[in-house]
Amino acid sequence: MSARLESNVNELKRVLEEVADRYAPAALSSSLSAEDMVITDAILTSNLNIEIFTIDTGRLHGDTLQLLDAIRRRYRYHVRVFTPDAGAVAQYVAGHGRDAFFSSTELRRECCHIRKVEPLKRALHGKKAWITGLRQENSAGRGTVPRREFDDSYLLLKVNPLAGWSEDDVWEYLRAYSVPYNELYDQGYRSIGCAPCTRPVAIGENIRAGRWWWEQGEGKECGLHARLDGTLVRAKEAA
Ligand code: SF4
Repeated sequence: MSARLESNVNELKRVLEEVADRYAPAALSSSLSAEDMVITDAILTSNLNIEIFTIDTGRLHGDTLQLLDAIRRRYRYHVRVFTPDAGAVAQYVAGHGRDAFFSSTELRRECCHIRKVEPLKRALHGKKAWITGLRQENSAGRGTVPRREFDDSYLLLKVNPLAGWSEDDVWEYLRAYSVPYNELYDQGYRSIGCAPCTRPVAIGENIRAGRWWWEQGEGKECGLHARLDGTLVRAKEAA
């Protein structure tokens, strides 16, 4: 194990232990990304009192959902799964079409709101701390992700223990501990969301270039990390 990995692991476990001790009930919102698998492994191998949940938007890749089985087999842990409100999804599909998110940014954000943001609100209800796998490197809009801050959208402590980690740090951890990961990463994906809205990226492209690739600009976020007024928090942090 490299000195850097050892230092990263010690700091990660220190932060998670502190959150579990001082901010219960706490939860990791996992998108089953490589970053979230690092944190999942750290929580479950340390037997910490932190819930792990994910949001099954109904549009995820099969490879992503298979990780839920892999986690069950490896750690004997059942990730809690939240799903969108079926009525809201049906209304969106009836009114705009299932893939209407390709038509406009507004309809894309509405889809993300129904399928991701509203379930997240339910999942975080009653929690004192929200742990995420956000990293500063992920995109221009996430360049100043803090290690922790009070999130005034959800009124809880938001902890981003991998904020300072590089992509290499993440993969060094996953390989060192043989942690299961989404096989789509082996097919050129570097940031994985819903199947219709994610594609592999070319060498040299930004990690998140494959997300909502038909949209222009830096505002390509799903709204999970937004303030109450709906503005995305690019200055202090940034799914
Ligand atoms: S990523 Fe795409 S399919 Fe998933 S919730 Fe957002 S717009 Fe809908």
